[in-house]
Amino acid sequence: MDKLELQLRAKAIELLEEGEVSIIIGWGPGWNSTKATPVFARDGETAEKLIFNPFCFNNLSVYLPRISEKTAIIAKPCDAGSIVALLAEGKISRDNLYIIGVACQGIVDPVKLEAAVGSIDDATAACLEGDNIVVEIDGEAKQVSFAEVALDRCMSCNQQNNVFSDVMVGEPVQPVVGEARSVVPEDAGAAWWRGFWSKEFDRCIRCYACREACPACYCRDNCAVQALRERWTGPRLDAQEALMFHAQRAMHVAGRCIECGACERACPVGIPLTLLHEQVGKAVKKLFNFNVGEKVDERPPLETFRKEELESGH
Ligand code: SF4
Ligand code: SF4
Ligand code: SF4
Repeated sequence: MDKLELQLRAKAIELLEEGEVSIIIGWGPGWNSTKATPVFARDGETAEKLIFNPFCFNNLSVYLPRISEKTAIIAKPCDAGSIVALLAEGKISRDNLYIIGVACQGIVDPVKLEAAVGSIDDATAACLEGDNIVVEIDGEAKQVSFAEVALDRCMSCNQQNNVFSDVMVGEPVQPVVGEARSVVPEDAGAAWWRGFWSKEFDRCIRCYACREACPACYCRDNCAVQALRERWTGPRLDAQEALMFHAQRAMHVAGRCIECGACERACPVGIPLTLLHEQVGKAVKKLFNFNVGEKVDERPPLETFRKEELESGH
């Protein structure tokens, strides 16, 4: 067990024993070593399962709006950005929250890892060794450079050691350096995007896993896409209906999406949803000069209305 994990567990147990919080949200071992899973610890025994490594890809802040008790959460920098966004929107209370920050070199993209080493469902062990990810499958240790299999999002991240937190655990890290692989041509215009999304959304099975994994999608029982009165989206499984669902969701999270990629990783058919949210996010940044996840006292631009905006025509 590494030093960071020992420190995480010690901090978690201390917070529980001193009654500072009644639950700790973190990551623990999943059903195999390439798949860490969320852990909700209420006692020392469960807190002893806490881990942090490049396989901890869930954005755990998604659980916070559903919990009303005193909670500690282990957060990497981008998850902490989502926490800031939720605080800014008044969806969670700072008084009920203790944030244990961890620096983050980057997280493994399971799709890239599978393409590099084969079926990771069959992995019996996996870890970061130096600059490489090593995965054991069928008794054979397969090695691939971390930079080659890290999430594209991590290549452009400049927040690795910068976590909005109450306490930092572990040491600062060096970011993983690599190149994002864009599927978007430089001259992509409206027609290209229309064709691209029609093809992608034709595969959408409307399981809503993307919505469930998203910290910005917190309307539980009254989500507009499933509202019974206003039928903005029909139940048919086709590209048009799926496009309507995703366009609606993209607009609802515009200026609130931290671009964590949790939606994309949750998608069982691998639709590159982060691309959609990045495009909308860029437009919001440009139009409103607003960076989501930076300030707890600034509400997102599309969630507010100022009379001057109407008068100036913007
Ligand atoms: S975007 Fe940054 S903080 Fe988030 S997983 Fe990647 S490297 Fe870590
Ligand atoms: S829309 Fe996707 S990328 Fe954006 S905050 Fe939600 S899960 Fe993260
Ligand atoms: S997770 Fe994927 S398949 Fe499911 S609704 Fe979202 S985009 Fe569609």
